[in-house]
Amino acid sequence: MDSTHYSAPKDLLAGKIIGVTGASDGIGAVAAKTFASCGATVILMGRTVPKLEAIYDAIEAAGGPQPAIYPVCLEGASEKDYEDMHNHLEEAFGQLDGLLHNAGELGQRTPIANYKLSTWQKVMQVNVTAEFMMTKALLPLLEKSDNASLIFTTSSVGRAGKPYWGAYAISKFATEGMSQVLAHELEGVSNIRVNCINPGATRTRMRAAAYPAEDPSSVKTPEEIMPTYLYLMGKESRGITGQSLDAQ
Ligand code: NDP
Repeated sequence: MDSTHYSAPKDLLAGKIIGVTGASDGIGAVAAKTFASCGATVILMGRTVPKLEAIYDAIEAAGGPQPAIYPVCLEGASEKDYEDMHNHLEEAFGQLDGLLHNAGELGQRTPIANYKLSTWQKVMQVNVTAEFMMTKALLPLLEKSDNASLIFTTSSVGRAGKPYWGAYAISKFATEGMSQVLAHELEGVSNIRVNCINPGATRTRMRAAAYPAEDPSSVKTPEEIMPTYLYLMGKESRGITGQSLDAQ
């Protein structure tokens, strides 16, 4: 199945409860709106509440199920904050059917020899440690679903080392690893499938920061890469786990 050409039925995610990190901008904002357009109740997770409110309003204006906003700063949140997140979401929704780890920090584009420790720590905290803590805290809610999908966001630089990508690339290698470890641990003993998506070059603020000389119109929009996100979030990918898919 080529997920990049997947065509989702309009009710693919009807009744599903799906969390999206970094739902305020770029790919995460479009993923949240797209999941809602297929019937999901989306929990918009992020740090910039006015931007999350704009996505909330857009989902409501489009007639989607009423979403929720869960403010979280992935750089600073503690294990206790994720326990609180679990408790609040359990009380409000009872379970989670999907979680898209999408938020990410780019860090510096510079050789390791010049890489700042503070930037390294921020990138690893947001891109790896926060994902670990949130996943650990929310696994019990995903286990309550009869068909849950946990999706991590990788990058081509997280599969083959490339110069000057520093902590970002290394964090994406770690993300691929976390996804594989979890997939093996959960296969056969839960209803949770665990996979990665590599968005590929996509027209967002992060892409523009990484490639300032590039004409943004030369790369795909987040809307164009949504088929793979829908495929992995929806029931047709049941049984697919431990994979790392390209969205284009
Ligand atoms: P954007 O920069 O457009 O969006 C990043 C999102 O992450 C924003 O919602 C941002 O929130 C959030 N975020 C960043 N830091 C934190 C933090 N400390 N706490 C909470 N939220 C945070 O990036 P993209 O949409 O391009 O990237 C989405 C994912 O796709 C990332 O994981 C990225 O690595 C990956 N990717 C992107 C590619 C591309 O070409 N665009 C290619 C390959 C992978 P806020 O709005 O508050 O800043």
